[in-house]
Amino acid sequence: MTHPLLDLPPLSAARFASIEDRVARLLATEQDVVIMQGEALLPLEGAIRATAGPGTTALNVITGPYGQTFGNWLRDCGTTVIDLAVPFHTAVTAEQVRAAFDAHPDIDFVSLVHAEAATGNTNPVAEIGEVVRERGALFYVDAVASIGAEPVLTDAWGVDLCVIGAQKAMGGPAGVSAVSVSTRAWARMAANPGAPRRSYLSLLDWKDRWLDGGRTTLPHAPAQLEMLALEACVERIEAAGPATVMARHASAAAATRAGAVALGGGLEPYVYEARDAAPVATTLRVPAAVDASELVAKALALRPGLPLAAGGGALAREMVRVNHYGADATPDVVRACLAALGEGLTGLGVTVDAAGAVTAADAAWA
Ligand SMILES: *Cc1c(COP(=O)(O)O)cnc(C)c1O
Repeated sequence: MTHPLLDLPPLSAARFASIEDRVARLLATEQDVVIMQGEALLPLEGAIRATAGPGTTALNVITGPYGQTFGNWLRDCGTTVIDLAVPFHTAVTAEQVRAAFDAHPDIDFVSLVHAEAATGNTNPVAEIGEVVRERGALFYVDAVASIGAEPVLTDAWGVDLCVIGAQKAMGGPAGVSAVSVSTRAWARMAANPGAPRRSYLSLLDWKDRWLDGGRTTLPHAPAQLEMLALEACVERIEAAGPATVMARHASAAAATRAGAVALGGGLEPYVYEARDAAPVATTLRVPAAVDASELVAKALALRPGLPLAAGGGALAREMVRVNHYGADATPDVVRACLAALGEGLTGLGVTVDAAGAVTAADAAWA
């Protein structure tokens, strides 16, 4: 008996290359795109270890938990790290990045998370990219939570290493990811004795064994199911139109934000300014008397399956995340999330305006 997920014909090198090309179009890049067969942490770590080392001075922008992770990898590589941490309720500005360069002119690497699903903010990559280019540093961007939810203009913004995963706004698989690599970034890697070689983390291996050979022979067996799922999700975005998909995410964020404010009861957008709020997911601050984890558990018990989560780690008490991305970027899901949070708050003795929340959300969606 054949099975739809099993007994598939082998995925050819040509098909693998064509999927890379489609991802490159989505990233608006003419640089090399390497698909990596693992969750996005694989290219995120691989790109840092390939380009940073003891000779590097890195400006590491921290606007959420991923920035902290990048700082740890950079230090582990022997890099001198200058952390620029901004409160999680806001975004970093190009002026702050410029000031960091002025204070440390030897910075030659900048790591930045575009949008943070975990904290709900989004950073102005275009403006920051101008500063990074002026100073000639290498620009590394985590676009996992922004791709599909808002424009990611890799080449126009001067991003040297742009990492994506398909599992957020693309509505795709989590087991495969991609990174675009500029000529400058390849040169850094080639000159870096510490860059992983003959390693699963190695981007240089993919260059040697795949790109430089004209993408005719795959270095090892492709992760076939993930590749087909990646192709399918890119195809679906192309068919709907990337602008339409992004508009749905922007509307979901605006509607959730407006709905939460109208719901009241002390629920507030976690990110103060709407312009700093990520289209991929909306974070909310719960009233001081309420435990966010308890509220989410109550809401999900009433309405199972909604994309609600409490904040991670230290944010678990104070933050609710509405993960309105991918197939969940719809008016129905936003309304249901607001209703569930309203019912959860009511159950905890907080007075809310459930009807007002829906009205405000619907108005903001349009
Ligand atoms: C979701 C996400 C990732 C991927 O990491 P997971 O731990 O698998 O969720 C990486 N970077 C950012 C900014 C993300 O939001």
